[in-house]
Amino acid sequence: MLLDDLRARIGADCLVTDRDVLASYAQDEAEWAPFGQPAVVVRPRTAEDVRATVQACIAHGTPVVTRGAGTGLSGGANATDGCVILSTERMAQILEINPLERLAVVQPGVVNDDLRAACAEQGLWYPPDPASSPWSTIGGNVATNAGGLCCVKYGVTRDYVLGLQAVTGTGELVRVGRRTAKGVAGYDLTGLLVGSEGTLGIVTEVTVRLRPLREPEHTIAGHFDSIVDAGRAVEAVAAAGLTPSALELVDRHCLKAVDDWKNMGLSVDANVVLLGRTDTPGAAGIAEAEAMVTCFASAGATFAVRSEDPDEAEALFAARRLAYPALERLGPVLTEDVCVPKAAVPEMLARIEAIGTRHGVHIANIAHAGDGNLHPLLITPPDDADQRRRAQAAFEEIIADAIALGGTVTGEHGVGLLKRHGLALEQAPAVLAMQRAVKSALDPHGILNPGKVLPDEVS
Ligand SMILES: Cc1cc2nc3c(=O)[nH]c(=O)nc-3n(C[C@H](O)[C@H](O)[C@H](O)COP(=O)(O)OP(=O)(O)OC[C@H]3O[C@@H](n4cnc5c(N)ncnc54)[C@H](O)[C@@H]3O)c2cc1C
Repeated sequence: MLLDDLRARIGADCLVTDRDVLASYAQDEAEWAPFGQPAVVVRPRTAEDVRATVQACIAHGTPVVTRGAGTGLSGGANATDGCVILSTERMAQILEINPLERLAVVQPGVVNDDLRAACAEQGLWYPPDPASSPWSTIGGNVATNAGGLCCVKYGVTRDYVLGLQAVTGTGELVRVGRRTAKGVAGYDLTGLLVGSEGTLGIVTEVTVRLRPLREPEHTIAGHFDSIVDAGRAVEAVAAAGLTPSALELVDRHCLKAVDDWKNMGLSVDANVVLLGRTDTPGAAGIAEAEAMVTCFASAGATFAVRSEDPDEAEALFAARRLAYPALERLGPVLTEDVCVPKAAVPEMLARIEAIGTRHGVHIANIAHAGDGNLHPLLITPPDDADQRRRAQAAFEEIIADAIALGGTVTGEHGVGLLKRHGLALEQAPAVLAMQRAVKSALDPHGILNPGKVLPDEVS
């Protein structure tokens, strides 16, 4: 029996079988993605425990689904019936912060904000900052190649991962990558594992690159009557050659939902708010902020200003980060994650608006707008089958339009379960075959998070 084998290999104290507790590990934050009932939750303490778990799963032909904090928005951490959920919650130590090499070594269950806080104590900065940073883990961030607010200037998780320790689908514990500033030995297996959503290996340790702490940022706020005008402002900022350290869009639906929930006293006069930031030091930073104000105004902002009040600016960004959980309170949310070229942002936003109207679906919008990474949030009343059908149709149309405009179906959340169909539309059969070949090579028994990412093969 699998359970007996696991007990013998890693000890009973690593296993959870209580049905209620199992249910709380069965799905991530993607409310629309299907999920099953796991057989057991394994909570390893060490990489050796992870290896032993995978070896047991190989022996019994049992799928293993790795779970960080379960904040994923594509169903990537969702259980399949009878699977092992491997939770990294007890592997949460920061093993090293090295100011000389500007790197940190962490276990996968470390929460993003905890790493950032520990680095800040030493004058260092770990940039990738998903809006889920108070909860999501570095292992989950690595497995989804998470983006975030400052990625518009500083890049995504993959840009900061130097090396990994991981257990492969053959049950081997391997190290890939490096600790050095440079290194080109062999194929980039580190880059391959980043963003592989638990389907190619289980990450047991991460070595990340750090930067020096940066200057305080200037914040620019713009109000727009129409979402398309806000999109034009994004295009204008890019066309002016500016490099904001954040450029986020949040609409009135989101601000109102946050305010109703947290009572933050937010003004919800504007239909759409664009929030820019620059961390360029000194006078150049002020000039860059003013240039952004000009871009906003030229695109039709009804109000655009460089904020002089850091508390107010922080409140606006806090509201942006809270938008998703605030909307979840209104009903099941189906989250898009399309990413389009910057020049196509206004057109894509116009199409999203038109799709919502055509299908009669309530769509709220947040976006890492400066990256062209848009998150239309399709909200349906609970238990309304007709609205669900409409929302699904709108979801598919948004994906098709993003691809038609030269974009991708997922900018940062990953394929998981929700975008497998989108992946099949986006990538050529030959490319999908390459992806399947990689999967077979690293997970020959097909036990690592099966059914995620790769679309079913059409015979
Ligand atoms: C409010 C909110 C805001 C968000 N904002 C952002 C954002 O700005 N940017 C962004 O990119 N995402 C965002 N997300 C999505 C989510 O937080 C990220 O995808 C995050 O990286 C997931 O981390 P996690 O620890 O919760 O992982 P989980 O949800 O537990 O897992 C995610 C995937 O990674 C795999 N996985 C987890 N740990 C490991 C491991 N150690 N080894 C191998 N595979 C593993 C899982 O199997 C699954 O496929 C947001 C989510 C919420 C709820």
